[in-house]
Amino acid sequence: MNNHYDVLVLGGGSGGIAAGNRAAQYGKKVAVIEAKVVGGTCVNVGCVPKKVMWFASGMAHALHDAKDYGFDVSVGDLNWKHLVDNREAYIKRIHGSYQRGFESNKVTFIEGYGEFVDKNSIKVNDTVYTADTIYIATGAYPTVPNLPGAELGITSDGFFALEEQPKSIVIVGAGYIAVELAGLLAGLGTDVTLLLRKEHVLRNFDEMLHTKLTQALIDEGVKIVNHSNIQSVEKHDGGLLMKTDKGDELQAEQLLWAIGRAPATNFNLDAAGIKLNDRGFIPVDKFQNTATDNIYAMGDVCGTAALTPVAIAQGRRLSDRLFNNMPDRFLDDSLIPTVVFSHPPIGTIGLSEHEAKAQYGDSVKSYTSSFTPMSHAFTEKKVPASAKLVVAGDDEKVVGLHCIGPGADELTQGFAVAMHMGATKKDFDDTVAIHPTFAEELVTLR
Ligand code: NDP
Repeated sequence: MNNHYDVLVLGGGSGGIAAGNRAAQYGKKVAVIEAKVVGGTCVNVGCVPKKVMWFASGMAHALHDAKDYGFDVSVGDLNWKHLVDNREAYIKRIHGSYQRGFESNKVTFIEGYGEFVDKNSIKVNDTVYTADTIYIATGAYPTVPNLPGAELGITSDGFFALEEQPKSIVIVGAGYIAVELAGLLAGLGTDVTLLLRKEHVLRNFDEMLHTKLTQALIDEGVKIVNHSNIQSVEKHDGGLLMKTDKGDELQAEQLLWAIGRAPATNFNLDAAGIKLNDRGFIPVDKFQNTATDNIYAMGDVCGTAALTPVAIAQGRRLSDRLFNNMPDRFLDDSLIPTVVFSHPPIGTIGLSEHEAKAQYGDSVKSYTSSFTPMSHAFTEKKVPASAKLVVAGDDEKVVGLHCIGPGADELTQGFAVAMHMGATKKDFDDTVAIHPTFAEELVTLR
């Protein structure tokens, strides 16, 4: 029975690691199966390397602004390889800390591609492992459209494998990845074109956010082409030539697809008795239960908010529920705070004004402030900053909070606690401001 576990976790990314370790801490015998590298998307080709690159771009911005603060500095050249080497060494250290975590929790790490044999068995490299309980935490992968030459482009995975900084790039997409990579590459000096199939970036975010971010991207030199779709890609002159449905031809050294991600579900789910929903995700209820009684799923593969902390929270709560006698524990996903690491960053919680009006009707009001951040009061380059509260009902409960500007990333978490506790506009107003900060805007809105 050496290959029998209490819990087998399929997928060693953020969700699987957190859920597996939590189950092991409750005394369960756990193994985590991972086909690639421990840490999944977030650590290897997502949040972590992206944030390093975002910091690098922020350094370039700071160097640019430094001369207005009296420093005799210039931005100079970026040694891309040096940056990437340091970034990858940092990621290796994170792998080490995951392995140490597994060791201290006595979790077995199994390397290889796992496939279901039946609802209690998973085969990896010709060995069959069995378990009473199975967690699926396989995540998602970036999609590429089906059009001639599409494979000449890269995705976010390919971006993190780039050995040289592209001189020019066309980024297709309008979501998190498109605006984050467009912003950071522009800050580092790449000539960026952002191609949108519709009118706006971050179309489903509050209007204030996409309007301000669009202006910031344009100010940073990003060329935004909207209502445009690539129809074909071919090699040309050492780079790529892209033809669009508007009849335009775009040339760039690189093309990057950032058009969404698809769930990773190719591991013989039929044998486990699980059918995908019409969007290709594994259907789960709020307790992460799948249709098969001993199998649970969490994170991006379920189609809920595709965010690392969501997968972690779902996974940990699931292990609490199953193995620590907390039968009602689940993740309430109604007020998930999120940050877009654009330049400047965006922090957002809850409903956009548009969504709030659809849900609460005429009782919705909004309070907005737009200002020049103090850090940029006398710099040549300006950065927009705006804060907005969306409130609903007679008690003006805060149902949406949106901010963009330097520091928006760090200030959002604390306000998420307040909103989670049901804060009203009056609670915000009754809180003494911290001066001078961006955050004080949110407690001084009129
Ligand atoms: P998103 O789903 O966020 O955005 C992709 C967007 O691209 C779509 O919303 C759509 O916008 C547009 N699009 C879709 N298909 C096409 C197409 N064929 N041609 C042109 N545009 C298209 O996906 P991402 O890949 O950016 O990110 C995936 C997820 O990863 C995010 O949703 C987020 O949950 C997570 N993530 C989180 C980050 C963070 O927390 N900071 C960072 C990065 C990713 P439209 O309909 O307007 O055209």
